[in-house]
Amino acid sequence: MPATTPSLTALTFDLDDTLWANRPIMERAETEHYAWLDGEIGHATDFPLEEYTRRRMALGLKHPLRRGDFTWLRREAMRIMLRDAGHGEKEAHHWSHAAVERFLALRHELQPFPEASELLDSLARHYRLGAITNGNVDLTRLALDHHFEFSIAAGEWLAPKPDARPFLAAMARLGSRPSTTLHVGDSWKEDALPAVRLGMQAAWIDVKGRGAPEPVPAGVHVISHVRELPELLRHLNASR
Ligand SMILES: [Mg+2]
Repeated sequence: MPATTPSLTALTFDLDDTLWANRPIMERAETEHYAWLDGEIGHATDFPLEEYTRRRMALGLKHPLRRGDFTWLRREAMRIMLRDAGHGEKEAHHWSHAAVERFLALRHELQPFPEASELLDSLARHYRLGAITNGNVDLTRLALDHHFEFSIAAGEWLAPKPDARPFLAAMARLGSRPSTTLHVGDSWKEDALPAVRLGMQAAWIDVKGRGAPEPVPAGVHVISHVRELPELLRHLNASR
């Protein structure tokens, strides 16, 4: 009897740029929260946004373990910058927290792709669904949350993708194995490659339309938008 491939039972999803276009959201959140803080305390003349960005990146290099914990990096870089701007410890703490809260509120004002909700709804009837993000979106703040059993904030776990741990934790919670799980995401290095390295299937979303780096590893399936996922799953299930 020929060996058969087990059916897929679970799907894991990246969030940013997989279920919504993230760049405009980030650009707006970045400029608006910074302008808000400047309106409150007038810090931006001496410390323009570029300086804050530079300091966040430098802080990430200084604390490699926390490089994926973007909320911490934002708050901490802001706190130190405001102290350097002459604010006292208490004030710097207060305003850095307030600014990051403002940023996070703006960051969650996002519109998923119009197909996303219905798509997840229909997938959830056949598969168990989990989310794994390196970003600082809190899925419970979004209407899409109810489609997923959980969301893993891999950066805040200090194990951002491509680390295997968030994938392994997701499969443990979904009661699935690599051979029965497909990961969906737009990053070649942080989604597609780590998933297939673990023996999962991967749907790589070629957001930029540049094509997959050759050779495409076995188990990676290239799509251009998450809306193509049902068709891919039909195809995969038919060949199992
Ligand atoms: Mg992504």
